[in-house]
Amino acid sequence: MRLIFLGPPGAGKGTQAKVIAQLFTAAHLSTGEILREAVKNNTEVGKRAKSYMDKGELVPDEVVIKIVAESLARPDIARGFILDGFPRTEQQAIALDGELAKISLAIDAVIYFDTSAEVSIRRLSGRRVCRKCGANYHIASMKSRQEGVCDICAGELYQRDDDKEATVKNRLVVYERQTAALIEYYKNKGMLETVSGDLDVDAVRDHLTALFKAKRL
Ligand code: AMP
Repeated sequence: MRLIFLGPPGAGKGTQAKVIAQLFTAAHLSTGEILREAVKNNTEVGKRAKSYMDKGELVPDEVVIKIVAESLARPDIARGFILDGFPRTEQQAIALDGELAKISLAIDAVIYFDTSAEVSIRRLSGRRVCRKCGANYHIASMKSRQEGVCDICAGELYQRDDDKEATVKNRLVVYERQTAALIEYYKNKGMLETVSGDLDVDAVRDHLTALFKAKRL
């Protein structure tokens, strides 16, 4: 399966991408995670991306396009992949088509996580992430067994800087301004499938697996 997960921040794309990637042994390519790792390691890409990420703005297209082109060269891509959080602009979508054409691959479907602003804000402001393994939790709906400690690797849970209130609001504005037009873009190509991102994790997973079965993915 080769999929794009599209939707506002807080739609549950990352959570579902992890679940689906594991169920279908596909690679999970999250540009946000790759960029956070680059910032943590203070690489050239990280230094360039940090100021944009801190403000909730998009990192310049050429930076993320290069990251995705490199990721698509990974050997595990052959088993399938989920692009989570990419593309986010039309220029990125066009560049993706070009990169995929080079390796003779095509996207099977674009999954749009249709999510209300209220749910997005609630999820993002309560989200906690493991510093070590990147697992996601929520202070109300997906608590870790021990407060502040990851169930999987015992790493420390923290709140992403860009999940703080002012930045969350800007990320939603940026999504509407720069990314939401991709819904029409992929609808016009006949590639768009919509699921409700407002439902809980298990319900969204069940909708997705039923959809993939129907599409024989
Ligand atoms: P995410 O984890 O997908 O919410 O991404 C976190 C942040 O990384 C975003 O707010 C952007 O600053 C940056 N980012 C991630 N993916 C992209 C992308 N495709 N284009 C531009 N910036 C991105």
